[in-house]
Amino acid sequence: PHMAETIDGRALARSIDEQTKAEVEALVAAGHNRPGLTVILVGDDPASDVYVRHKVKACDRVGMRSTEHRLPASTTQEELLALIDRVNASEHVHGILVQVPLPGHIDERAVIDAIDPAKDVDGFHPVNVGRLSTGTGGIWPCTPHGCIKLLQSVEPDVEGLDALVIGRSNIVGKPVAMMLTALGCTVTIAHSKTRDLPGKARQADIIVAATGIPEMVKGDWVKEGAIVIDVGITRIEGKDGKDRLVGDVAFEEVQHARAVTPVPGGVGPMTIAMLLANTVQAALSG
Ligand code: NDP
Repeated sequence: PHMAETIDGRALARSIDEQTKAEVEALVAAGHNRPGLTVILVGDDPASDVYVRHKVKACDRVGMRSTEHRLPASTTQEELLALIDRVNASEHVHGILVQVPLPGHIDERAVIDAIDPAKDVDGFHPVNVGRLSTGTGGIWPCTPHGCIKLLQSVEPDVEGLDALVIGRSNIVGKPVAMMLTALGCTVTIAHSKTRDLPGKARQADIIVAATGIPEMVKGDWVKEGAIVIDVGITRIEGKDGKDRLVGDVAFEEVQHARAVTPVPGGVGPMTIAMLLANTVQAALSG
């Protein structure tokens, strides 16, 4: 029987990293400061610590400078905002990333708003959100942009296709829907209040699932030949008692699709690749 193409996010991320690396060296050769990313971590959340280390390592891999600011959990909002002012002003810093979650006494929105939009490589600043929604450039958020790259790796021309985005969060669902709209898709945004989600899914040429509900997208939700991008990552206990990662899509059931991203190895690896690409973009325009 026909098998869906498994879209290899690790391979695509590697090829984007190679391109980023070449762009870094081209900038340096042209006399530009070496592109640099600053990562700010407040507190000692172990998961955040792992993410930050991955991001710093990734910078090394593509020849980018990186600086880490590790602040104690007791850091005040004023102290954090003062640090952001300093890195906003530094000509060696092209990208600024504040690792979330922040401790409860700090207002996340105020912190994101304080980042220079031109250095906001997460793409969460309202200026960048506005740029995306008005189709006027800006820095695009990493995970949604990674979804688009994966989609375009199997179908470069998505104009006119019907897309269903499941999830309406500010960090994934909404921005991915804006990007698909900009590319000419007809987009439906579904969420927990949506009626007849399976019926809507069956009409879609493209499904982007970003809910965090393990394997919610079943085989009979997916029309023959559709392209399925699975953003969800949930850790569940497998039959053997060991933890495993599952996506929002019942991967084995959707093999009649044209292509589907696996979990892990699909959207996940793309996020850091897009972060590095955004930092080079920021350096180019800065
Ligand atoms: P949120 O929890 O912020 O949003 C989940 C969305 O799914 C909400 O809009 C919610 O609807 C919707 N939803 C929940 N239940 C249902 C349902 N039964 N039917 C339809 N829609 C539903 O999550 P995020 O957007 O932050 O992340 C989504 C998933 O993507 C998570 O698994 C996360 O781990 C993963 N992720 C992966 C990344 C990566 O690969 N690097 C990066 C970011 C996220 P409502 O708004 O009505 O509540």
